[in-house]
Amino acid sequence: MHLNIVCIPGDGIGPEIVTQAKAVLDRAAALYGHEITYKDILMGGASIDVHGVPLTQEAIADAKAADAVLMGSIGGDTTRSPWYKLPPEKRPEAGLLGIRKALNLFANLRPAILYEELADACPLRGEVRRGGFDMMIMRELTGGLYFGERKSYQENGLRHAVDTLIYNEAEIRRIAVKGFEIARKRKKKVTSVDKANVLDSSRLWRAVVEEVAADYPDVTLEHMLVDNCAMQLVKDPAQFDVILTENMFGDILSDEASMVTGSIGMLASASLNDTKFGLYEPSHGSAPDIAGQDIANPIATILSASMMLRYSFDLDAEADAIDRAVKEVLKEGWRTADIMSPGCRQTGCREMGRLIAEHITQK
Ligand code: NAD
Repeated sequence: MHLNIVCIPGDGIGPEIVTQAKAVLDRAAALYGHEITYKDILMGGASIDVHGVPLTQEAIADAKAADAVLMGSIGGDTTRSPWYKLPPEKRPEAGLLGIRKALNLFANLRPAILYEELADACPLRGEVRRGGFDMMIMRELTGGLYFGERKSYQENGLRHAVDTLIYNEAEIRRIAVKGFEIARKRKKKVTSVDKANVLDSSRLWRAVVEEVAADYPDVTLEHMLVDNCAMQLVKDPAQFDVILTENMFGDILSDEASMVTGSIGMLASASLNDTKFGLYEPSHGSAPDIAGQDIANPIATILSASMMLRYSFDLDAEADAIDRAVKEVLKEGWRTADIMSPGCRQTGCREMGRLIAEHITQK
């Protein structure tokens, strides 16, 4: 297969971690007989320095022409970098919002995995985390409360504010379809999270998810109220496979789920549109405090590259090979500084990438 990938190294540790993810992709491609063409584009601070804007039309056109985009991270030190003296629409983060909009990325995927080897980083009690967990939070990204009409006004001498939570059935259907498709590649269970005991938008959400579920008889669907879900995530996280939810609930639950894994350098993510196209990036930021020191953890970006193979190219065996290599390297005791624990062997960003690439095997 020929894979046409656009890379956005970005700022801070971005270029270091993307370089390692590319090395891992190259190794998997060589082993499984694929050919990859990469094109790097500028975004964020790196683009401001060269073009004066965080995202150019040319960069958007390049991204649109690719099969998928692999990104490091963008942004700098928000108190010291001159990028943050610019008006908001010219700052690095505007590039990210701009590309998400231009590519119509409406589905955000964040896996939360507790690796046995990193169990000590998990803030949950031993018996709760025993056996680990592996879930995927799927969040609607372009609708709901954050995009509905809002206003503030005075009435009877009191200040009022209104935000509107609005969804139409097409917006719910397209993300539900993605959720069921992704569950099919996993443990075949969808937990749809809403507040259907109170909200009309949630009742529509639940009805449409059930309609979509009828096309996926091999996938188990359950509904859960959002308050209960927030509780269950810390009580029994192993019960979840795919959590499917709207924008604001997903915003909150995905942060909760990632924090129970305990390690920011391990968290991958993807944003998808209604084709196979996706933008894949670590959940963390550009970590300007450790940039250029070869100490960043490249694993979140490497796992994002693995998600890219699985969800944009349907190369499940290749993605499994990368995920297996990450686990084996951790099992051998290799750690970057952020996940270091007593008795383990500390290594840097480059070496961690090399070790993972080296451990990729065909099963
Ligand atoms: P951050 O995630 O960059 O860093 C938080 C802490 O975690 C820091 O101490 C950092 O050193 C550490 N860390 C993060 N990733 C790491 C890794 N891979 N390995 C080891 N340690 C790691 O968050 P922040 O400091 O709040 O933000 C820094 C910049 O990143 C800001 O400009 C922010 O806007 C930007 N940001 C970008 C994205 C994105 O591009 N999607 C997301 C979040 C933040």
